[in-house]
Amino acid sequence: MRFLITAGPTREAIDPVRYISNRSSGKMGYAIAEAAFAEGHHVTLISGPVNLEAPRGAQLISVLTSDEMFDAVHRHADRCDICVLCAAVADYKPANFSSTKIKKRGEMLSLELIPTRDILDSLGHRRDRQFLLIGFAAETDHVEENAAKKLREKDCDIIVANDVSSANSGMESAVNEVTIFFRNGEKEKISRGPKRIIARELVKIFFKIRNKMFDKKNVMIN
Ligand code: C5P
Repeated sequence: MRFLITAGPTREAIDPVRYISNRSSGKMGYAIAEAAFAEGHHVTLISGPVNLEAPRGAQLISVLTSDEMFDAVHRHADRCDICVLCAAVADYKPANFSSTKIKKRGEMLSLELIPTRDILDSLGHRRDRQFLLIGFAAETDHVEENAAKKLREKDCDIIVANDVSSANSGMESAVNEVTIFFRNGEKEKISRGPKRIIARELVKIFFKIRNKMFDKKNVMIN
């Protein structure tokens, strides 16, 4: 099968030298890309700026901003069977980009932010969608409620939720602990372990659900 995976953070420029970003390391998305390739799948990885080696076997597309990631995902989405949006896309970007470096002044500076386009939401609401759509939720509180809300509102098939409130799992860490929420209300927990091991489990689950949800003519079974 063909996997399309996003990973890492995005950078939203304020001026030529400054940007807004987040702590995402890209490790989970890269681990999923490696695990999918190891299982014999075709992998396209759309990645924000990270300090990781390109995963073996994957077609790597590097982007910086949420807009670049949005465009790249939409360019490739129709050619995939399983779309895993693991990236920590910035939720806001500066309303204005200053083409010259903003000068330091000894007074308060306010930055006006506008929402970025939500890639998961835009794919989830596409009526002609032929691929399994998976989103991630990094939460610090009310993990379960927030994951269920995201699944419903963004209209995707699966949400993989992880608790990022603790320092030793989730963001930047090599280990993680996730709960998978399905459309039918079921959930499955993968207990704490290296992201590499969790990624293998996730790939198996995505593959199984993709096969269950679509019949041979690639028509979605509700
Ligand atoms: O709403 P929230 O940002 O918590 O949702 C997280 C999920 O949505 C992740 O799968 C992330 O990749 C995706 N997302 C997106 N585009 C955005 C923001 C989040 O695809 N602009």
